Amino acid sequence: GGKNSSFDLTDKIRVCVRKRPLNKNELRRGESDITELAGKRTLVINEQKTKVDLTRYIERHAFTFDDVFDSHVTNEEVYKRTAAPLVDYIFTGGKATCFAYGQTGSGKTYTMLNEKNGLYVLAAGDIFSMLNHPDYVNIIPHVSFYEIYQGQLYDLLNARKKLFAREDGKQQVCIAGLTEYECFSVDDLMKIFGHGNNVRSTGATGANADSSRSHAILQICLKDKSKKMSVFGKFSFIDLAGSERGADRGDADRQTRMEGSEINKSLLALKECIRALDQVSKHTPFRQSKLTQVLKDSFIGNSKTCMIATVSPNSGSCEHTLNTLRYADR
Ligand code: ADP
Ligand code: MG
Repeated sequence: GGKNSSFDLTDKIRVCVRKRPLNKNELRRGESDITELAGKRTLVINEQKTKVDLTRYIERHAFTFDDVFDSHVTNEEVYKRTAAPLVDYIFTGGKATCFAYGQTGSGKTYTMLNEKNGLYVLAAGDIFSMLNHPDYVNIIPHVSFYEIYQGQLYDLLNARKKLFAREDGKQQVCIAGLTEYECFSVDDLMKIFGHGNNVRSTGATGANADSSRSHAILQICLKDKSKKMSVFGKFSFIDLAGSERGADRGDADRQTRMEGSEINKSLLALKECIRALDQVSKHTPFRQSKLTQVLKDSFIGNSKTCMIATVSPNSGSCEHTLNTLRYADR
């Protein structure tokens, strides 16, 4: 697990930002990269502005995070500096959660759920090697994969079946009937994921949402078979809906506005819940959205969270990028 991690993760919350490279279309349109790393932890946005007399000037906005990843940084390196220490943490019985937050096209899926080397694949590699240790012979990883669209849960491992969350007598939130597969290797997990991912993008009926409008949640739950399969530790990888969907879109049609306000509500609730994580006295408003409700155990007790804000570097994305960084700023 943390053998290769370059730091000790003592905070309950870590907030990082990652910029992707300019893509071909942006280069062809002659767009420039308005993002700039300043030191190890600061990202500067050079906003291009025009005065009333039409002279142009640059307004600089600097944001400082726990870590900043430049466009050439690989998923392997991002993994080392974000999720890798959390793998050790779940083996101490903790709940770890990694979120990718950002505008559509900024690299959320590439970072979190890309089938080749997304953070979940890299974490699974370390999880299965930890499981080779004799201390963990009774620990069986279980995987589930579902999405939240318009406040409704859909099981990606069971043909997007609608699911319902319930709070039991012990104030535990559980999703009734959620498919969970035992898995015994990284390959196993990748196969199960691939199946769910196809369901996510094509859907059983073709009537499913595009991925920018839903939150996808992949969970690896470590269960102890010597203790009636009780949950030992858990790692959640979350590819959030495009943050621009939550922005005020006056021109949008009714359906789009409804989706937007639902996404907005969940992203605001998420921010509040993450904030409450390192303030012992603070009330955690996890009931304010389906997203935060189903992630309740990630916000209370033994839990650590890493938020990776992803940004597009091109000038045309400036406003969305500033919104993303303001959201992630704390
Ligand atoms: P999102 O999930 O936020 O909508 P994607 O992850 O699908 O965005 O990324 C959009 C495109 O940019 C994809 O083609 C992806 O391969 C590419 N991309 C994203 N991040 C990076 C990166 N750090 N390095 C290289 N390509 C990237
Ligand atoms: Mg995506």
